[in-house]
Amino acid sequence: MIQIAHRPDSPEVLTSNKVENTRKKIEQKIKNKQSVKSTDFKAHWKEKDVKDLIYYHQNGKCCYCERKRDRSMEMTVEHFRPKSSVQENKDHSGYWWLAYEWDNLFLTCLSCNNKKGDKFPLLDEKRRSKHPGDSLSNEEPYMINPIDENPEDYIGFDWDSTNLLVKAVGLDKNNRGAKVVNELTAINSQSVIEERAQNLETIRTIANLCIWSKLQENKLIFEKIKELIAKYTKNDMQFSGFYRAFFQKNGLGEYISNTKIKDQATEKSLVDGIEQLKEKISKLSLSDSDKNKVVQHIQKLENYVTKPEKTNATIFKATLEVIANLIQGAAGGALFEIIKQLNNMIS
Ligand SMILES: [Zn+2]
Repeated sequence: MIQIAHRPDSPEVLTSNKVENTRKKIEQKIKNKQSVKSTDFKAHWKEKDVKDLIYYHQNGKCCYCERKRDRSMEMTVEHFRPKSSVQENKDHSGYWWLAYEWDNLFLTCLSCNNKKGDKFPLLDEKRRSKHPGDSLSNEEPYMINPIDENPEDYIGFDWDSTNLLVKAVGLDKNNRGAKVVNELTAINSQSVIEERAQNLETIRTIANLCIWSKLQENKLIFEKIKELIAKYTKNDMQFSGFYRAFFQKNGLGEYISNTKIKDQATEKSLVDGIEQLKEKISKLSLSDSDKNKVVQHIQKLENYVTKPEKTNATIFKATLEVIANLIQGAAGGALFEIIKQLNNMIS
């Protein structure tokens, strides 16, 4: 299972009128005590903007089993809390009000989506939310939320006793991890435990070579091997969660990739920096036309941070330069200091 780094705000389509209309129709049915079927929901979550953005932030991987699959043919948008029924509670109408909620949508492979279906067990069934106003934080779900929680605290791997297979195992005392891997997802299906083991011999060799080259003080090999460990444990690698666990258990944790932490920190600093810039600019006396231009350019900067695939660092820097020119006469040193910092962050 993967942890999903800070996602941008909801794509516009999910807050559009057409989505609101569908939601209202469902709400009316619920009020009239009519049954709501999954076919009553228009699949706005399948729209390209939504699926592409989730795909990008999950590095093209199923958020549960960590397999990379074809985005259009072999992946589907998954409702974390099921939208039209709940297997553990036949009287429940499903979390229909979360059907178009950005934080309830992830991308999974078809096997994980089928296995999970409308399951959403809670540690205490009595605390289940039933209506839009009910607090979701009262629930204690077995399912691990890849945005709010770190799956690595709940799910580990066994590669020693499984005869060339790599099985996922639960780690926590509440058995959340165990339930997720064995009942709620395809994380331990035969094809996944086989696929996860495909590089087992390769990473064993990498671990052995790392230890050997360090002992021999063979810098050339040691540096190359460290690069390989970083490559296997980077978020965009299929099964990087397993590889991280493997290298950690072999005492090589210090060489695993920490790009996730770095990316999150950088992203957060950029967002904060842009916010500061916006606030300072709003206090400047600029002509209306300059103000409009600045607003447009700030939007481009925000797009860079939230949708990096749409633009690149060169455009980000050029945009900052345009803003700097536009506000030149009016701005004090503090503003240029922020611009300089933003510039440094992405170089
Ligand atoms: Zn999957």
